[in-house]
Amino acid sequence: MSSNPPIVNNFIRQIINGDQDTGKHGGRIVTRFPPEPNGYLHLGHAKSICLNFGVASDYGGVCHLRLDDTNPIREDPEFVEAIKADVHWLGFEWDALRHASDYFEVIYLCALKLIRDGKAFVCDLSADEVREYRGTLTEPGRNSPYRERSVAENLDLFQRMRAGEFPDGAKTLRAKIDMASGNINLRDPALYRIRKTTHQNTGDAWPIYPMYDYAHCISDAVEGITHSLCTLEFEDHRPLYDWCLQQIDLPNHPELTQPLVDAGLGMPVSTPQQIEFARGNLDYTVTSKRKLAALVEDGLVDGWDDPRMPTLAGVRRRGYPAAAIRNFWERAGVSKQVSTIEYSVLEACVREELDAAAPRRLGVIDPLKLVITNLPDGHAETLTFPNHPKNEAFGTRAVPFSGELWIEREDFLEEPVKGFHRLVPGGEVRLRGVGIVKCVDVKKDTSGKLSEVLCTLDATSRAGQEGAERKVKGTIHWVSARHAIEAEVRLYERLFTVADPDDDTDGKTYRDYINSNSRRVVRGFVESSLGDAQAGTALQFERLGYFVADSRDHAPGHPVFNRIVTLRDSFAKATK
Ligand code: ATP
Ligand code: MG
Repeated sequence: MSSNPPIVNNFIRQIINGDQDTGKHGGRIVTRFPPEPNGYLHLGHAKSICLNFGVASDYGGVCHLRLDDTNPIREDPEFVEAIKADVHWLGFEWDALRHASDYFEVIYLCALKLIRDGKAFVCDLSADEVREYRGTLTEPGRNSPYRERSVAENLDLFQRMRAGEFPDGAKTLRAKIDMASGNINLRDPALYRIRKTTHQNTGDAWPIYPMYDYAHCISDAVEGITHSLCTLEFEDHRPLYDWCLQQIDLPNHPELTQPLVDAGLGMPVSTPQQIEFARGNLDYTVTSKRKLAALVEDGLVDGWDDPRMPTLAGVRRRGYPAAAIRNFWERAGVSKQVSTIEYSVLEACVREELDAAAPRRLGVIDPLKLVITNLPDGHAETLTFPNHPKNEAFGTRAVPFSGELWIEREDFLEEPVKGFHRLVPGGEVRLRGVGIVKCVDVKKDTSGKLSEVLCTLDATSRAGQEGAERKVKGTIHWVSARHAIEAEVRLYERLFTVADPDDDTDGKTYRDYINSNSRRVVRGFVESSLGDAQAGTALQFERLGYFVADSRDHAPGHPVFNRIVTLRDSFAKATK
């Protein structure tokens, strides 16, 4: 047990505290994160990861990563690798890496025990017939005509299912519980189905595969899991989870787990306790692997790691720090209350991390030429800029300055409007780190579009001069046109146009709500020090937001920056 009591409190930790007091699991805490490798992990999964790994580490316990690979049809080794990378990136290390398929032999032996004990039977009903027999929420089901088969017949048939004698769907193994139960999950649920599909881990060894509920509780028990934390939709499955473990009684049947001992995977078995908590939901987001997979497969995004995707691979490429995601879920808390958190809360956590961690740089994303007419031709000098306004430890850097600059087009207005404090004809503005310029003229191209702003620089307003402190209302950023590097800049908005893209009440689906402006690509200019920016490093472009050099496309000679987030919550403003 940890000597530092956890600071975070929630109902799960209260249960664990109680268990620790009574010595329920011998003082041990073992949790697991059990994703199905049928897609990439998303922000919702991060809640479960933070909870499971966080609880284990705070109580001096361990957490396992278990790939829940009981369904061979949907799984892919690409997803397994992605899941491992994402959990590591979030900052967690598993104690054991297991697959549900590591336990197939044990799960099979458990089924034989259930059959021998008269608790399971082989059923020949088709899927449609099973549905018919199942009853409804208000009506009890009917017993399968195969329910009273003898133990000997069931053993024979099940062993022949395992030997591959029957085609897909011909038979199932079902638990014998209660067709009249008010809980439909207890109406003789299927434990095994026939599926002659090659499995990514076990190849063609198994023509039958265990059902999720049945495999999950056994997997938990053989790993010695003490607290099996899952989302609320499993609440109604808990009686089945408990029923299976009670009937199988692993702690008193070491012969059932002998195959694991022989394979060097043996662990002390437990009687795990399932505890359900509410899923984490975010607005403007879908968090269902199936829906995210469809976006990828149909080319609506550029892949699982598209920076607009709510996948962990997507937000990582977008530049979100892992710490921001951990803080976000910690603040959101864990309860049984279903709620949807505003995406802007996550963005605030991202800003908070980046404000402290990101060095400042200069970049212009919608360039307009500004020419200083009272500097000698070819004038160039080097200015020293602090890398972080609040933290001297970031040091300084050299920023080249010359008489031809790029400024942001929106920082100049030819026809001033009230409240606009940047550059206007005849007006003055401070150039960040340089001094005060005054607009004396403008140039236009043949189409009448503004092409250049001509200014004079007030030499007395420069650093060290008597007018250095002179106040003007606005300060704008710039880069030296001669020295700056051209860069591709990708500006992102929400992927969906509505807060609840899953709402299909009016016949629309999440696909109808994709924001066609969710990505805008522009050519900008960034200061020359970014020539050797490392992919994945986050920066603040002053006044524009936080950016990251794209981990896929950024290369020497071809800089590509993603905007992680703006400096302020411009989204909230725009939707008011
Ligand atoms: P999806 O519908 O996206 O496939 P899932 O729950 O089927 O989600 P799993 O791979 O089975 O995906 O999930 C692994 C673990 O993560 C499970 O314990 C599940 O309860 C948990 N999890 C999934 N989504 C969320 C979420 N939004 N919030 C909290 N936990 C989640
Ligand atoms: Mg699932």
